[in-house]
Amino acid sequence: MTPATPVAGRDRLRIAIQKSGRLAEPARALLASCGLSWRESRDRLFCYGESLPIDLLLVRDDDIPGLIAEGVCDLGIVGRNVLCEQDLSGKVNGSGARFRELQPLGFGGCRLAVAVPDSWTWRDASQLAGKRIATSYPQLLSKWLAEQGIEAQVVLLSGSVEIAPRLGQADAICDLVSSGATLAANQLKPVLTLFESEAVLAGPAAELEDVRGELMELLLRRLDGALRIRRSKLLMFQAPRELLPTLLPLLPDAEAPTVMLIDGEERLALQALCHGALTWQRLEELKRAGARGLMVLPVEGLLA
Ligand code: ATP
Ligand code: ZN
Repeated sequence: MTPATPVAGRDRLRIAIQKSGRLAEPARALLASCGLSWRESRDRLFCYGESLPIDLLLVRDDDIPGLIAEGVCDLGIVGRNVLCEQDLSGKVNGSGARFRELQPLGFGGCRLAVAVPDSWTWRDASQLAGKRIATSYPQLLSKWLAEQGIEAQVVLLSGSVEIAPRLGQADAICDLVSSGATLAANQLKPVLTLFESEAVLAGPAAELEDVRGELMELLLRRLDGALRIRRSKLLMFQAPRELLPTLLPLLPDAEAPTVMLIDGEERLALQALCHGALTWQRLEELKRAGARGLMVLPVEGLLA
C-alpha cells in the first residue's frame, strides 16, 4: 500500500493533503463529506480509498504544488498563498505554471500582510522604501513591491518571521495573519494586506484524459454540493399572513420560500433555504418585522 505505482496509466485518483497542521483536519473532513472513506497505511503517509478509487497522500503543504506538477498526485488541498508563491517562483525560473487553482474551499482563511513595529507611526507604503522586510513569501512580496514601485530589501526566513524585527534581522515583516494575536504578542501591527488566502483545491494545468479525469469531475460535483450545503441553512418562522410582503425582502439570499397558511389562514408558516450568513442581526430584523418562533437549522443533504 505505497504510493509508488507508476505515474502513467494510473486508474486511481491521488489527492495530496497536509499531514498535520492547520489544513489537515478540515481537508479530510471536507473530503469525507463528499462520501470518501479510506484505510490508512501503517506509516500514516498514504490512505487507500475504500468507497471510491481516490487515495490520499499525507505530506507537508509546501510539497503539494510540486507533487501535482510532477504528476505524482492529481489534486491537492493547499493554501492559495503556497500555490501562488510557488507558481510565481516557477515563472521566475522560466518553467511556467504546471498547476492551477480549481476551487476555493472556504476554510483556512488568512491574509498575507505587512506588519511593522508598534512604535512606527504608519502613514503609507512609501515608508517601506530602503527597509529590510522579513518573509517566507519572497515572490509575492517582491511582486507587490515592484507593483508599488518601492525598493526594499527582502529577507528570506523559513519560519518565526515575527521575531525578526526584535532580533535586528529586519525592520518589518510580511507574513500570514488570521486573528493578529501572534503579531500583537510580538509588538507588531499589520498595516497593509497584500493577498487574501484560503485553502483551495489545486490540480494540474492540463486536463486529465483517462479515468482519473472522470473521477475528478465526480469529486468536483460532490465538492460543489458539499460546499453549498455548508453555506446553507434552513430558516423557519411564523407570522401574521399580511406581513408576507414586509418579510420577503428581508430574505434576499433565500431560494423560493415555502409558505403555508395556518390558524384558519390567519397566519403563515414559512421555510426558506438561505445561502448567506444568518447572523443574529438578521434574525432580530425579522423579529422586529413580525416573525415569531424563528428557527435556523443546518442542512444535512441537498439534491436539487
Ligand atoms: P507544514 O508542516 O505542512 O509545512 P506549515 O507550518 O507550513 O505546515 P500551517 O501553519 O499548518 O503550515 O499552515 C498551513 C496553511 O494554513 C497556510 O499556508 C495558510 O494557507 C493557512 N493559514 C490560515 N491561517 C493562518 C495563520 N494565521 N498563519 C499561518 N497560516 C495560516
Ligand atoms: Zn509548510
